[in-house]
Amino acid sequence: MTAPVTGIRRACAPVHEATLAIDLSAVAANTRRFAKATRGELMAVVKADGFGHGLADVARTALDNGATWLGVTSIAEAVAVRAAGLGAPVLSWLNPVDGDVETACRHRVDLAVPSVRHLAAVVEAGHLVRIHLQLDTGMARDGAAPDEWLELMAAARRAEAAGRVTVVGVMGHLAMAHDPGHPANTMGRHALLRGVELARRAGLRPSVRHLAATAATLTDPGTHLDLVRIGVGLVGIDPSGSTRLRSALRLTAPIVQVRRVSAGVGIGYGHTHVTDRATNLGLLPIGYADGLPRAASGRAEVMVAGRRRPVVGVISMDQAVVDLGDEPVDPGTAAVVFGPGDGGEPTVDDWAGWAGTIPHEIVTRIGPRVRRSVR
Ligand SMILES: *Cc1c(COP(=O)(O)O)cnc(C)c1O
Repeated sequence: MTAPVTGIRRACAPVHEATLAIDLSAVAANTRRFAKATRGELMAVVKADGFGHGLADVARTALDNGATWLGVTSIAEAVAVRAAGLGAPVLSWLNPVDGDVETACRHRVDLAVPSVRHLAAVVEAGHLVRIHLQLDTGMARDGAAPDEWLELMAAARRAEAAGRVTVVGVMGHLAMAHDPGHPANTMGRHALLRGVELARRAGLRPSVRHLAATAATLTDPGTHLDLVRIGVGLVGIDPSGSTRLRSALRLTAPIVQVRRVSAGVGIGYGHTHVTDRATNLGLLPIGYADGLPRAASGRAEVMVAGRRRPVVGVISMDQAVVDLGDEPVDPGTAAVVFGPGDGGEPTVDDWAGWAGTIPHEIVTRIGPRVRRSVR
């Protein structure tokens, strides 16, 4: 029974500005859980500023707790990994055809190659580049379409013979891993294994076959192969809903003003909420520019002084109004916008539900004005 008390106490502690507290011990615990779940290697995917938790902090924490690779979606992010002093193998995918191969090479960055055109550009750069052939295994999104695979493999073999690339890996991605029984998962796995077989027949010797992200890693060991790529799971989100992971975020904001209003008062732009009784309103200095989704207006709640309170009216760019009922609090009191939920406060999942989106979008969109505090 101590957890709720702790939560309430934290909720009442005064704060001076909107603050995102990032708990790296949660990232560490989640990483260890994934490392234990697979016999393959573990790549920590730290794109989008480590899913909003800090690229360098998440990368370092993951490497200290069982990850051996890092994954990003741009060469610039890979350079940020190196600038943080991290020397682990790093793979960048989603690179444009005219991506900066020279910079990638200088920082020992592996590149995903999703087409014959990308491969030609890598060869033309004139370095020896470590590459992973990226195959579309059933998403029609990134990766080479199956009708290009033979040509891609043959060209990769020629580039290898010419000393321009080393084909380290073959990678795919699953569209339906959040739904473990879905036939697209089996088809995706078969597609990847067929791609690996074609690569071998073309004379390539890829040693790192990778397909699974968070959801497949948790639900389907048959997809693990040589390496799993874990992004959102590191920060406590499981798209398959099968596993309880630890959330690392707590977003708080001070109530900057409290006002008493009578019944019949319209609140905020458009008066979308009109009070039906006299009440007390608290003002939060945080809005959609800080990552509170405007679409959550009319549904969202925050926790103030140990109780859930509704956000009323539309969420503005910089501010939001909370209905405190007949229990006003002192200005300066902290409202908990979301946290792990162990003190009864709303969670990232709650906000995603209120906004009609997924938790990934909530954690990756907290704006730059919000102060970060890391422990
Ligand atoms: C983002 C991404 C991942 C990580 O996925 P999660 O579901 O966040 O673990 C893995 N692979 C690719 C290709 C990605 O783009």
